[in-house]
Amino acid sequence: RSTLFPYTTLFRSRDKYGVYDEIARDLSMSTTCDRIMMSVESIKNLYGSNLVHYDETVIEQARKQHFILENMEAAQTGHQFKPYFQPKHSLHTDRTGGAEVLVRWIHPQQGFMNPGEFIPLFEENGFVARMDFYIWEEACKALRSWKDKGWPVVPLSVNMSRKDFDVPDVVAKLVSLVDTYGLEHDLLHIEVTESTISGDPTRLANIVRELHEAGFVIELDDFGSGYSSIATLNELTLDVLKLDMSLVRKDDPKVENSALKFAVMMGKMLNLKLVAEGVETAEQVERLRGMGCDYIQGFYYCRPLPQADFEAYLQKE
Ligand code: C2E
Ligand code: CA
Ligand code: CA
Repeated sequence: RSTLFPYTTLFRSRDKYGVYDEIARDLSMSTTCDRIMMSVESIKNLYGSNLVHYDETVIEQARKQHFILENMEAAQTGHQFKPYFQPKHSLHTDRTGGAEVLVRWIHPQQGFMNPGEFIPLFEENGFVARMDFYIWEEACKALRSWKDKGWPVVPLSVNMSRKDFDVPDVVAKLVSLVDTYGLEHDLLHIEVTESTISGDPTRLANIVRELHEAGFVIELDDFGSGYSSIATLNELTLDVLKLDMSLVRKDDPKVENSALKFAVMMGKMLNLKLVAEGVETAEQVERLRGMGCDYIQGFYYCRPLPQADFEAYLQKE
């Protein structure tokens, strides 16, 4: 329902109000209403937010979302999703001991997009499962090509999101993928988060167990980011614990960081390898080394790199 005042429109949808200040005289009433409606949509799920003023950023965001949803399928068939590789530096060998594969979307017109811009939308509409499978295959192709060239290979970690667990026979599909490329299963590490298994813990923990039994290495991602519970550590068959960057960030040499120490201690008690994420300074590296961390992943050593640059990085090493 909208009410027109000389230059201001107020739109109400249930208990949410949208306001369009200073409407240009040449803007039609229906466009005005569409824009306010979009603004109201943006606060639809925000408890306690009842009023929104239209501004260009809301429309820009809506346009971007629309673009992403319209173009995602073409992006996959057109090979616009690119795997980037971020080294995991081993503190034991002082060399790269693995890498995480992180997706980037490189659109011919739109340019470079980070996963934060599109993964949440894909998780909502389920497309993430198709995109992930594509990225897993890209990881397998990379490993195969390194082996064919006779290079020493490092294992690659891929991300598995909540929706991937709903794909029928996901374990068999992963096994068949890795077998198609003739790879040892432990060359593929699978990163799962605790939030992934919340909701239906038994079914999802069973899938993780099957993946583990099939020989994949299981890494618990974002540990200590807020969802952590000791129960999860018991439920899941894990090999690696990835300490979330928020735990590492809070590590100030002047302050006792009990949460980080506790997380490290738990990992050790459970016989898990420890990877610290988001490490940016030499000081952090040394403290994590002192605590007994096994791997460091972070800008201090290297940012995520396109495949050719990652290969050059390994060769230089
Ligand atoms: P994540 O799995 O926790 O990945 C680590 C993120 O931290 C990456 O962001 C990486 O670029 C960033 N990072 C690494 N070292 C540092 C550091 O020293 N400082 C800072 N500030 N950041 C660092 P990215 O690539 O933007 O990915 C964001 C998230 O998107 C990932 O978080 C993951 O949840 C998701 N994601 C990325 N690629 C995929 C994918 O192929 N599939 C799925 N399902 N999710 C993905
Ligand atoms: Ca990850
Ligand atoms: Ca992480």
